[in-house]
Amino acid sequence: MLMELKSLTEKQENILVHELSQCYRIEHFVAQFPNVETREKAVEIIDRVLRRCKLESNGVASQLDEDARICYAILHMLSHELVLQFLGPCKQKYPKCIHFFKLSAAMNGFLSQYEATIYDANAGLKIDPNYYELLYDKAVALRLLDKDMNEAIEAYRAFLTIAPKDHRKVPESYYAMANCYFELHQRDISTDIVKKVYEQGEEAEKVQLPCFLPYNSNNKTELKFMFDRKSPPNVNVVAPLLDRKSRLLDPHRIRVIKQHRQWQAALLEARNDSMYTLMSGSHEPRAQQQAVESLIGLKPISLREIDPTKDHVYNGYVLSVTIIEDAYSWTPSIHLVIEDEHLDCERMFIYGFPEGHGKYLTSKVFTLGSKMSIMNPYLRLGGSDMKSSVRIDDFSSIIMQNESERVLNMCRCCGTSNALHVCGKCKQAHYCTKECQITDWKLYGHKLICKKQ
Ligand SMILES: [Zn+2]
Ligand SMILES: [Zn+2]
Repeated sequence: MLMELKSLTEKQENILVHELSQCYRIEHFVAQFPNVETREKAVEIIDRVLRRCKLESNGVASQLDEDARICYAILHMLSHELVLQFLGPCKQKYPKCIHFFKLSAAMNGFLSQYEATIYDANAGLKIDPNYYELLYDKAVALRLLDKDMNEAIEAYRAFLTIAPKDHRKVPESYYAMANCYFELHQRDISTDIVKKVYEQGEEAEKVQLPCFLPYNSNNKTELKFMFDRKSPPNVNVVAPLLDRKSRLLDPHRIRVIKQHRQWQAALLEARNDSMYTLMSGSHEPRAQQQAVESLIGLKPISLREIDPTKDHVYNGYVLSVTIIEDAYSWTPSIHLVIEDEHLDCERMFIYGFPEGHGKYLTSKVFTLGSKMSIMNPYLRLGGSDMKSSVRIDDFSSIIMQNESERVLNMCRCCGTSNALHVCGKCKQAHYCTKECQITDWKLYGHKLICKKQ
């Protein structure tokens, strides 16, 4: 309807809202728009229907109003705080609609408010005790709360009892449980139950759909490291330590990060300057990047499989990355630097995000250490400099990974998590060692961005 009709009648709008919300109720990941314009059109229609419900029915509950609210929450999902505020009254007005509780639990999870996630999950489970998506959210929240590992294990077991065997969170649940047992047994990796539950995770991977493979799990990576080395690792270690350090001398990496920081520094300087508008100009892309209707069937791709000399959209692929340099500005696009599983890095420009959300997205969503997947990634060659970057035009092609996957207090230099030293001057940059701090200053020009925000 969105693509075929130029404008919709009220009746058609109502049908659209109902069908879209039904689709979101089943699985919102697979409901993607073919392009930015269509998505914006949908956003406008939802706003209109919501206003109409408010005016016409005087705030009385109705199916249409409920449907429109679900669509609104999903379409603005990346703005966690905004959606969370929106969901408060929804839960009161529609206490029988489990989806508002599910969404609210997810938003609280993104914001690391695990007590609130558990509260939402329990409220939703009163409506339907077999709603396994909520059982899973509750288990994750209990584990991350880090209070009672036995309670967390019990919650994962409750999820596993009901969830389909090929649900994409089944292997992860076993790895997470193995990690809970590991904690319970004073981090002794030779404990039988840890090994046993870990192997159940590997077994469960065998019935996963091909689109979810190779299976991605921080819990698995951490435990595997322990089994292999039998010595304590850094959490989130993806590659051997040697690779992590040696890549710091890669000239491409140094150029990409320095260039990004120069841009950021110039923006900070020019914020109240007329130069700002001058710098903000952008060139039209040569190719069109779009999300797809479904993640199913997409093949994983990494930066080294992408040709840096070709302006090309990799349709049918999905690129999974971690943010290693964040943005202070969002005009005309959000500039980031990302790193993939092989620790290769590239610049990333995000266009097409909802108007007015720039500040929120740069400060809350696209933050250091956050992980995301890009459907149909576009390797763009710069309009004037011909330098490569990953360009996103269709905002819905970004899927943010769960907050629990985020690399916390990431070292600004080498990327390891839980880096405890903080730059004395800007009080922003974390470093794992003095050595990393010196490298970041000398090779990567930390000086450029070493300012109080
Ligand atoms: Zn470091
Ligand atoms: Zn600093």
